[in-house]
Amino acid sequence: MENLSTTFYPKHVLEEYGPVHPNDGAKICIICETCISSRPNYFYCRVCDFFFHKECHTTLMESNLTIDRPRTHEHKLTFIRKTNSFNCDACGEVRSKKMNMYACLPCKFFIHRNCIYLPKVIKLTCHLHRLFHTYHVPDCNTGCSLCFASFVSGCGGYMCINKTCDYKLHSYCATHELIWDGRDVEGEPEETSNSEDVTSLKDVDGNTFRHFSHHHDLLRFCVDGEDEGDERICQACILPIDFDSFLGCKECDFALHDTCASLPRKMEYQFHRHPLALEVDIEEGFFSCSKCKRESCGFMYRCCQEECEFKMDAKCASLADPLDNGIHEHPLTLTNYGANCNKCRFYLGSKQVSQPVLVKCNYDIHPLTLCLFESTYLWSHACPLRCEICEIRIKPKYRDYQDIYGCFDCNTVVHVECAIGKYPFLKPGHTIKLNGFEIQIASKNSLSRPICHACHSTCQDKLVFKNKKNVTISFCSINCVTTSS
Ligand SMILES: [Zn+2]
Ligand SMILES: [Zn+2]
Ligand SMILES: [Zn+2]
Ligand SMILES: [Zn+2]
Ligand SMILES: [Zn+2]
Ligand SMILES: [Zn+2]
Ligand SMILES: [Zn+2]
Ligand SMILES: [Zn+2]
Repeated sequence: MENLSTTFYPKHVLEEYGPVHPNDGAKICIICETCISSRPNYFYCRVCDFFFHKECHTTLMESNLTIDRPRTHEHKLTFIRKTNSFNCDACGEVRSKKMNMYACLPCKFFIHRNCIYLPKVIKLTCHLHRLFHTYHVPDCNTGCSLCFASFVSGCGGYMCINKTCDYKLHSYCATHELIWDGRDVEGEPEETSNSEDVTSLKDVDGNTFRHFSHHHDLLRFCVDGEDEGDERICQACILPIDFDSFLGCKECDFALHDTCASLPRKMEYQFHRHPLALEVDIEEGFFSCSKCKRESCGFMYRCCQEECEFKMDAKCASLADPLDNGIHEHPLTLTNYGANCNKCRFYLGSKQVSQPVLVKCNYDIHPLTLCLFESTYLWSHACPLRCEICEIRIKPKYRDYQDIYGCFDCNTVVHVECAIGKYPFLKPGHTIKLNGFEIQIASKNSLSRPICHACHSTCQDKLVFKNKKNVTISFCSINCVTTSS
């Protein structure tokens, strides 16, 4: 161990350590704010009780004691050799366990090192307009539009360039890596999205429509409930068209839900930081949705940013915010992980939120409604419930996500998975490419009991996955196809 006197406090003696021990993981460098274990050697000041990387200290002393960046502040900024005790003018935060502030003393201007480089103008997918950084968010009663917490009086943040819009964000909320795409768009012309090339559906003559994904004209039909023969599925979300009006082709069985037909060709999704583009032909024949994690062979929104793997299915993309789908008495607010009620503690996870709320089934003349734990719990205590399909007794004890579909009038209940299967967004008859196999998706007919080639158990789901080259080989799940050799 070598003793050095510190350049921060010349009278304090520093202890030098290195190479880093794995147990040092919890220690944070007060200069760069990352783990001590991220670099080989570090110092410890026993008097101040803080750690810092040797490398960070050297860089700071050699080249970063002053920063000249007129774009941020007209005068030179000087490093403060003391742990933070001021609010940062750019973000309003005090992080007293850190030593990363610069100042212009004549101007009484204090700023975090990282905040010096905050972008001037940004465009986030969660707001329609661009936002600009200001060192003074006017005092008002409303807080940050993302985290709802208030602003530190007299400090900076991001505000909407549209004067009539009250949207404003904390600097750290606006530039969070999940929110901001990392681009400063100051001086760049705004992308004027031509509504012509964004709309998917064109109105031909008031009665007929054209969707860019289909080469025939479409007409608006209404599901009347009588006509059982016409069981169409929506090509965008792959769910059956059981209710309301829809757009259908006269010449073939192509059909789209009204909401699915109007999904735009390009969109900004509030919970992904890059713009998305709609694709209707997917090379592998299917994809896995980054939101609900379900496989789908319908329409796909793909992220326009290179190397970003984000994908989203039509069902997740068409969720309205606020969500008022009848599942809960209050409207729900969409979140990154599903939907929340702001009035009570009710919430839906990302799988539940994109589940169909109403389904038709052969066991009841009425459509069945999605029932979540609370209502199923009360219901099952009033009368014994048994799934019509698998005949297993429904005894909800814990919130174990065993949701059901039910009809209160007839006391009909079915498990969600028994009703819509494991793969509600995959359609029989479709071919997918996976793990070197060409796989034909097929409905399992109730008489056959195929054995899965990979896990050797009987295929239980509504769908089976057959090897196209040898149809006697079946798989029970996408996972079994993936793990099969
Ligand atoms: Zn700051
Ligand atoms: Zn905030
Ligand atoms: Zn705005
Ligand atoms: Zn649809
Ligand atoms: Zn999804
Ligand atoms: Zn992306
Ligand atoms: Zn509520
Ligand atoms: Zn069941």
